[in-house]
Amino acid sequence: MDDQEPRRRHLLQRIAEELRSLEGRTGCRLSPGVEAALTAVPRHMFVGPGLQPAAYDDTALPIGWRQTISQPSIVALMTELLRPQAGQTVLEVGTGSGYQAAVLSQMVEQVYSIETIPQLAEQASARLKQLGITNVEVRCGDGRLGWPEHAPYDGIIVTAAADKMPSALPPQLKPGARLVLPIGRHPYAQNLWVFDKKEDGAVEGRVILAVAFVPLVEPRDGPESNGA
Ligand code: SAH
Repeated sequence: MDDQEPRRRHLLQRIAEELRSLEGRTGCRLSPGVEAALTAVPRHMFVGPGLQPAAYDDTALPIGWRQTISQPSIVALMTELLRPQAGQTVLEVGTGSGYQAAVLSQMVEQVYSIETIPQLAEQASARLKQLGITNVEVRCGDGRLGWPEHAPYDGIIVTAAADKMPSALPPQLKPGARLVLPIGRHPYAQNLWVFDKKEDGAVEGRVILAVAFVPLVEPRDGPESNGA
């Protein structure tokens, strides 16, 4: 409980309405589990002090290095689609601020999260620790390769848009598990996809709806600049 909880509850009402309005396309509403996780995580702690007044608007916000913390209703939707359960181990690609990882940490046993920008990975890791979240491990690296050491996962969520499915990810899913990721090259021509790995290992995907994410990049050598 913190002094922003009333604002968070108000945002949760908006998210519930938004998900209801999308239900025809997504097949899901805001569930009690995801609602509780979003209520528990102080989103204002995942943005800079100047942006804290906007932290409970349903918008994406800049987090430096030309990256963004995703829009809360999209975080809620992707979390619903992932169907996280107690006892599971999930992989996130694109740690960013650490917010999505913190939301997942409320619902599963262990979250592994990969971020390509070292400063963001360090900040997110420190922030999660400061908030007392101990079941998220953040590593700096190329998330397109997954994190094979901890595979197979009960779910994988990618929070940056790939131009195609990264081929290393489906083999890191358990049979019956799900992968949620945005695919599309142009920022305004992306779709959110859900892929289910069948018991026989086949992977079947379907489009949920149009979205706008920062790109999943091929990491480059050399210093990153904070272009925010
Ligand atoms: N989930 C984040 C939103 C992150 S935005 C949050 O809750 O705040 C997407 C992130 O993906 C950015 O931080 C970006 O640096 C990262 N990213 C882009 N390409 C990547 C790659 N190949 N591997 C890992 N992270 C990547």
